[in-house]
Amino acid sequence: MSVVDAGAIAAKVVDVLRHRAVPVGISNRHVHLSQDDFARLFPGQNLGVSKPLAQPGHFAASQTVSLRGPKGVINNVRILGPIRTYTQVEVSATQARELGIKPPVRMSGDLEGSAGIEIISEHGAITLEQGVIIAKRHIHMNTFDALLFGVEDCQSVNVLVGEAPRTVLFKDVVIRVDPQLVLEMHLDTDEANAAGLKGANDVGEIVFQE
Ligand SMILES: [Zn+2]
Repeated sequence: MSVVDAGAIAAKVVDVLRHRAVPVGISNRHVHLSQDDFARLFPGQNLGVSKPLAQPGHFAASQTVSLRGPKGVINNVRILGPIRTYTQVEVSATQARELGIKPPVRMSGDLEGSAGIEIISEHGAITLEQGVIIAKRHIHMNTFDALLFGVEDCQSVNVLVGEAPRTVLFKDVVIRVDPQLVLEMHLDTDEANAAGLKGANDVGEIVFQE
């Protein structure tokens, strides 16, 4: 007669859940706008929805802007909605070089001392003294996922991404716990290219020291 060891089964289930694939979303350069800055760039308009994103309520807007730095211009930069309380621009290190600016690697919202930029639309322009960052790689997850993975908000983990011959172990990946958001790792285009990601159905695996 076999004895069911509930503890051993539970441990196995948790082990499977801890090693499950984390969907990877690749963030191309984009802009989040405050209501005031949006109104300056697009007077009389509402932020239009072009495409919903994986995170509930988040979307690529129909409006785009250009970014102008000391060394160059990047056109067709998507605005991501919804409207935020502050304006923030996210670029890759490669794009920062094209623009001629030196943004710090930061988490979203941590803008003190970040880089400046000019944002241009067909109707107007605004100059930011600060607000440009290179987004620090991170994983969004809800409270239940955090419990299963055994991680906490703001903790850093290692994540294995990509396939041979371009497999990359990303260190310093910050966990962001938010009950409203779904499990998704965010990398920028430099990081995605380094790992040979395809931009669709990419996944990573959190690597735990065991
Ligand atoms: Zn994110």
